[in-house]
Formats: sequence, structure tokens, C-alpha cells
Amino acid sequence: TDTAMIRIIAGEEEHLAQNYHPLPVVVSRGEGAWVTDVEGKRYLDLLSAYSALNFGHGHPAILAAAQEQLGRLTLTSRAYHNDRLGPFAEALAALCGKDLVLPMNTGAEAVETGIKVARAWGYRVKGVPADAAQIVVAHGNFHGRTTTIVGFSDDASARDGFGPFTPGFVGVPFGDAAAIAAAITPETVAVLIEPIQGEAGVVIPPEGYLRAVRDLCTERGVLFIADEIQSGLGRVGETFACDREGVVPDVYLLGKALGGGILPVSAVVANRDVLGVIRPGEHGSTFGGNPLASAVGLRVVELLQTGEFQNRAKLLGEHLDAKLQELVGHGVTAVRVAGLWAGVDIDPAVGTGREIAERLIARGVLAKDTHGQTIRVAPPLVIRATELDWAVEQLRTVLAA
Ligand code: PLP
Repeated sequence: TDTAMIRIIAGEEEHLAQNYHPLPVVVSRGEGAWVTDVEGKRYLDLLSAYSALNFGHGHPAILAAAQEQLGRLTLTSRAYHNDRLGPFAEALAALCGKDLVLPMNTGAEAVETGIKVARAWGYRVKGVPADAAQIVVAHGNFHGRTTTIVGFSDDASARDGFGPFTPGFVGVPFGDAAAIAAAITPETVAVLIEPIQGEAGVVIPPEGYLRAVRDLCTERGVLFIADEIQSGLGRVGETFACDREGVVPDVYLLGKALGGGILPVSAVVANRDVLGVIRPGEHGSTFGGNPLASAVGLRVVELLQTGEFQNRAKLLGEHLDAKLQELVGHGVTAVRVAGLWAGVDIDPAVGTGREIAERLIARGVLAKDTHGQTIRVAPPLVIRATELDWAVEQLRTVLAA
């Protein structure tokens, strides 16, 4: 029966650009933390679509919001008002403690929007000379795949062959606040960082880094833009990864889980003195803020308002941390955990990240490698402690194989 799966994969490859290298499994159903392949085999999903499925597959409350809205109104464009966008924006702004929301669809669009907002703020509020704006970014960043964004990546596979690139970005080591201080000039409009770097392998900066970035940005008159697209909305045991240091950025970039695992929903959230710089006609998206996305996004915010998911991530994360630390020295060289989010560095002696991920498939666990030797563990926050234990046992077994 492996052949059915192989046939589906071969058929797909026949007509698909090879811009991904998926694990060889064909999923046809999902429920909570579990997915089922076309042959009926079940797997625990330890990736959650890169944290877009924080609430799990088919969360009943999110599905209900989507289904109710599907039958009423799905798309208006922003040429008209719709009756769902306002309530969504109000709830999301409140969750972030900010005034205004600019809705988009994908994460990369939120990042692009953040860049445009920061530049417009720089020219119109800070008084930076035309076309001179600079944005400080971190080495090892991942903010998406547009030409502007990959232009300030230092990952060769993301960037090489796609130039020429947009100027106006300067990279400094991640986790080093002094390097940011040294990089800020009078033309700097923003510091754009992931509070925890996801694609880089769940890289957690030293304690105090986010506070130092916050203080620096305030002192030097620069916007602190936190890309919480992967780290935000419950994953780290708080609503935002910035909350771990009690820090509030000037601009939140949100995406992934904001769409409830149903559709792409992203947003830039900031106060009026920043986001208010954008004027009608200067920015937009046909689908951004559509009524279906707004209904789903509102339900996601309502789920986060209770704190239940943040608490689950915190408690389950502590449990996961303890279990994973036991593997260090047994096929694992290092483990970094923030809430229910872990980067597990595989000892090259036992295999590559990809090889470990492939061995896990056979044991009913889906996990994805990132940057060669790291396995990222980011299950839906609805996972049970016993399921986590079972998944770690499968990892222990394949590492020993
Ligand atoms: N920013 C961060 C921190 C991300 O992790 C990602 C996706 O992995 C993005 C931006 C881009 O999001 P999207 O793939 O929806 O464009």
C-alpha cells in the first residue's frame, strides 16, 4: 500500500514547482493534534504548519465561526465596509494593547507592511531625509520570501540568485543589543527582529535582550518591530514572546495562528502615532480584512482572551523541556525550549535532522527539520501531556536506532 502514497506523491511532483522538499507522507484528515494519511495511518503533528495550527486541526469553535460566516459573506474587498472587520480589529488591538490594526493575509505581507509603515513613519514623523531610511535586522532572521525580505536574509538558499535587492537594511548578530546600539544611525527608523528566531531553530536570545532592545529603541527614537508571526499567539506560554521579558514593541507583526489553521490572516498592530501615518490609497490587499478572515481571526482572539492556551503552552512546555533534556548526550547535542516550542539539535553521529524526521514518520510522528541538524517541536497547543511523552519516546527510540 506504500505504492498508493508513492503514486500520489509522484503525480503531485509532475505538476508542481519543486520549491519544497516535503516529508513523504500524504495527509487527508486532521483532528486536534493528530492527522491521518490517505491509507488511514495516524500521526501526531509536531509541526502544526509552522505554528499556524496552534489551536489544532479543526478546532470546533474556529470551524463554527468559519462555517457561520461562509454562508453569510466571504469577500467584499476594502472597496466597501464589511460588518466583521471592525469587531476583529477592535478585539485584536485590545489583545495587543494597541490602537490600530492593518489587516493583510500572509506573514510576508505583514512584514512588508511593517517595513512600509516604518519608512513612512521615518519620513513623516521622525524627519529622515527622503529614501535614506535604514532598518536594523538580525543575522539568522526569517521573515518570509518576498524579494525585499530575502534581500536582508543571510541564508544563502533564501537569497542567492534572487537579487538585485532592496537597499536600506543592516544586519547585526542576534541576541547582541550592543551591536544594535552601534548600528543605529540618525537614518534608522526601526529595529526588526523575531523575539525568538523560529526558522533558525528556536533560537532564544539571552535574558534581557528584548528589554535592552526596547530601551534602545525608546532612547534613540527608533521603532521596535517584533515579528511574532511564529512566536506569538500562545506558542511560548504567553500571548507574545515579548511578554517573556515584559516588553511591548511599537509594532507587532502577526500571522500564522491568527488564521486559526483555516486561511491566511496576518496583521500589523501598532498605536495611532505609528500606524496612523498610512493614508488611503498607499497600501492594501484585495483579500486583507475579508469577512471570512475577520470572523476566524476574531474567534482566535477570543480563544486567546481566556489565557487557557497560553497556560497550556506554559505547563506542557515545562513538561516537554524536562523530557527533552533527558535526551541531551543521547543523540541530542542541545535543546532550546520556550513554552511549547523546542529546537532539538541532533548529534550528526546519529543522522541529519531530515533522517530523524523520516525515521519518526514510521513511528507515527510528524516533525520537520530546519537548517540541517535541528528538529523543531511545535505541536498544537491542544496536545495532551501523555501524547507529548509518547512523541518524545518515539524520538528517543529513533535516536537510539
Ligand atoms: N515571519 C516569521 C517569523 C515566520 O516564521 C514566517 C514563516 O515562517 C514569516 C514571517 C512568513 O510568513 P508567511 O509564510 O505566511 O509569508
